[in-house]
Amino acid sequence: APAATEAAAPAETEAPKTEAPAEKPAGGAGALVGVAMPTKDLQRWNQDGSNMKAELEAAGYEVDLQYASNDVQTQVSQIENMISNGCQILVIASIDGSSLGEPLSQAKEAGIPVISYDRLLMNSDAVSYYATFDNYMVGQKQGEYLVEALGLDTATEPKNIELFTGDPADNNCNFFFGGAMDVLQKYIDEGKLVVKSGQTAFEQVATANWDSEKAQNRMDTIIAGNYSDGTVLHAVLCSNDSTALGVENALASSYTGEYPIITGQDCDIANVKNMLADKQAMSVFKDTRTLATQVVKMVDAVMQGGEAEINDTTSYDNGTGIIPTYLCEPVVVTIDNYKEMLIDSGYYTEDQLK
Ligand code: BGC
Repeated sequence: APAATEAAAPAETEAPKTEAPAEKPAGGAGALVGVAMPTKDLQRWNQDGSNMKAELEAAGYEVDLQYASNDVQTQVSQIENMISNGCQILVIASIDGSSLGEPLSQAKEAGIPVISYDRLLMNSDAVSYYATFDNYMVGQKQGEYLVEALGLDTATEPKNIELFTGDPADNNCNFFFGGAMDVLQKYIDEGKLVVKSGQTAFEQVATANWDSEKAQNRMDTIIAGNYSDGTVLHAVLCSNDSTALGVENALASSYTGEYPIITGQDCDIANVKNMLADKQAMSVFKDTRTLATQVVKMVDAVMQGGEAEINDTTSYDNGTGIIPTYLCEPVVVTIDNYKEMLIDSGYYTEDQLK
């Protein structure tokens, strides 16, 4: 099977090798599945990609796995290549959910089904199914964690908070940020939570490409303008671990007050280490093995001409209508349960977290 490649630049997109193996196992009967992932920069996508590849191959499929270095044009050409190289089904985790209209219509024209992986592909009627974690619940759990940890229901003094979410072109952000704000807004309105920077609008708190450095720079500026006079920052809502990492780096370099409660998502190794070092309070664990297993089942069902298992038919409208969805359940991880959730489950070894 072709190896995973992360193209350095659009021009260097590697054409997948399509030679068939000597013997094809049963099940997928050797059908070629194109798996498009956004980037190798973030730990989770490496896990998603390798889980998908391993599970699809175990089910008898051939896999063309591509990473696009967070570059939209690279992803467009990778998907076009998958189509011209004979992929019979596509699984896509997009960089920009609205930017793949062209290759998606090509897929539709060629009768190739498309499964949206983790992030919803927008404004295209070529999408058969969507599998993801309950993104709204991720945000909700982060919000609820903050309310509890800050003791907002009994606090007598207001608490200061700053807000960070991810890339505006990632449809998930509306759900992450929306879910969290549906919990937190009431406390902001009551004056129990104060965003000293005044930055509360989605566009103000978004982080292009989910980039740690961008989050760090924004946090640096916020600290300099609002928390360098001894004002305590009690909490930072971060939609995921890469933004949390940036915030944690900024705090380490320019904030000396009482350390804030910080949320995250993914349980990236760097962030679990920070959790163990008391620099991040929680992360929302999304076991990429569960998602991969579910998507492989979807691929199988579609390839056999049947219907895939779904459990949500109301939440995800991609602009062309509701996309039938399977939602996996996210779980809050803290130092109290990380052993059970991350080590006993075999997700990480103890050594990886040292
Ligand atoms: C994923 C998160 C991830 C983020 C940045 C989101 O679409 O759901 O798990 O942290 O992208 O890659």
